[in-house]
Amino acid sequence: MTEPADAVASVAVLASLSTEEFIAGVEAAAVRFDAATYPQRELPAEDWLGLTGVGVLLPVLPVEYGGRNSHVEMCRVVEVLAERNLAVAVYTAIVTGLALRPVVLWAGEEAKREVLPLFAGPVAPTAGFASTEPGCGSAMSGLTTTFEEVEGGYHIRGRKHWQALSATASWWVVVAKRDGDSGREYGWFVVERTDGFRTSQRYEALGLKVIDYGVNEIDAFVPAHRRIDVGAGNLSSMVDIYLSGRALIGALACGFLRRVAREARAYADARRIGRSPLSAIGFVRYRLAAIDSAHTVCTALNHYVRTRLDLTSDLTPAFPFILAVKVVATELMVSSANHYQQLAGGEGYRNGSPTNIAAQAFLDSRVFTIFDGTNDLLSQQLARHCLDSADGRSLSTFLAAWAPTAPAVSVHGLDLRFLDGELAQEHMVLAGRVIAYTFAASRVLQWATETGADADLAHRAAAFLRADIDRVRVEFDLLGRLGAGA
Ligand SMILES: Cc1cc2nc3c(=O)[nH]c(=O)nc-3n(C[C@H](O)[C@H](O)[C@H](O)COP(=O)(O)OP(=O)(O)OC[C@H]3O[C@@H](n4cnc5c(N)ncnc54)[C@H](O)[C@@H]3O)c2cc1C
Repeated sequence: MTEPADAVASVAVLASLSTEEFIAGVEAAAVRFDAATYPQRELPAEDWLGLTGVGVLLPVLPVEYGGRNSHVEMCRVVEVLAERNLAVAVYTAIVTGLALRPVVLWAGEEAKREVLPLFAGPVAPTAGFASTEPGCGSAMSGLTTTFEEVEGGYHIRGRKHWQALSATASWWVVVAKRDGDSGREYGWFVVERTDGFRTSQRYEALGLKVIDYGVNEIDAFVPAHRRIDVGAGNLSSMVDIYLSGRALIGALACGFLRRVAREARAYADARRIGRSPLSAIGFVRYRLAAIDSAHTVCTALNHYVRTRLDLTSDLTPAFPFILAVKVVATELMVSSANHYQQLAGGEGYRNGSPTNIAAQAFLDSRVFTIFDGTNDLLSQQLARHCLDSADGRSLSTFLAAWAPTAPAVSVHGLDLRFLDGELAQEHMVLAGRVIAYTFAASRVLQWATETGADADLAHRAAAFLRADIDRVRVEFDLLGRLGAGA
């Protein structure tokens, strides 16, 4: 355990580092968490201190609370961690992007003074984000956790599940509802576990083993100053709180895929099939190209997240772009992990294999298209947003003119007129995927121009994205042939 005097010294030292020095410290600390050797079990508290000790929480905290207040560093920390261990990166992103950011942005001074200093020191607790309930995941209308005003604060009652760090986090950001004469109001609260947050059941997740999950019963009194001011109490005004985790996935995906691309190639070069390396097989090279291109796309998305978004302020204006980042980055993570596992053969199905991390990469990445807003729902929301913004124009006309998608439509000559008919729910989901992939293709063009990246890499990545769009075109035809209610 660090002595208080050392702690003060190291906080001051961490605050004074340049970004490069700070990130170098995180990189050095991340080595011991490497996915090839780190055990697949819940992260012990002392290992968390190995991360908080190098300041992984500081970028989200304001300078006046001992933090570094840096959007770029929030992204770079999780990117660096994801290259070593995706689950450890998610763990950190939950605490910074999902739990602490709402306190920093929307809590009053009294709550900030109470909570934030706890997270600024090298011996920091953990915090989680509690929205999902057994009967309410994709649609908030099913929320059953309630809050009522009582003397001095609020009483919150309800049940949540699947929260990352369910049984171990000391602090929570919780959403609840109140139904009154003037309609439904949503409230957000900062809850300490000892206020009445209890884990009644543990879940065994398929992957991301360093994080614990479960069912959480809430029967808590929360003092008035810990209600936080997220929007106006209705669903549309609290969009931002769900966006930060999704934006950070751009950075996570970039780090994770850098590792997967490197290791898949190394494995394919080292493994002999007969007298030749695995990588001499044409179809294996195709799989490697798909992984490389996924890495390129996510590098471009990460460049966009780092340079065009700002997690330290309101993300609402970036709503459609962040949905696109989440959908594309997560689908590429899952498909790349699948390619990697396939080309590693039986060894890729082995936990703890000395030759590859494919099994873990597959299990850890699989949930990304499901959590933080299931991709199907987010795609539908993206299509809805664009249709509402099209102002009577056809979707293809809108996308050809809309700045986030127009570059790819024009440079790649995309013909998106298949999107222009009447769109039923199933078409909306597919249309959202097309929009997301067209957005990503535009980000690849932007990244290549702004960073002087290898043009060949950008061309290959664009070719894969165009193939994804073509696949959706085929699915549109298929839906038409299957008929309504397929
Ligand atoms: C590992 C993990 C970590 C998580 N971490 C947290 C956390 O920290 N905090 C928290 O509050 N929650 C967390 N969750 C919950 C997660 O966000 C939800 O599981 C997710 O939002 C989906 O909700 P659901 O499970 O209720 O699925 P449902 O809402 O039942 O949806 C099931 C499926 O139905 C389909 N579907 C739903 N809507 C549509 C649509 N409009 N169009 C097409 N198909 C659709 C999709 O295929 C979807 O995956 C986590 C979940 C997991 C598995």
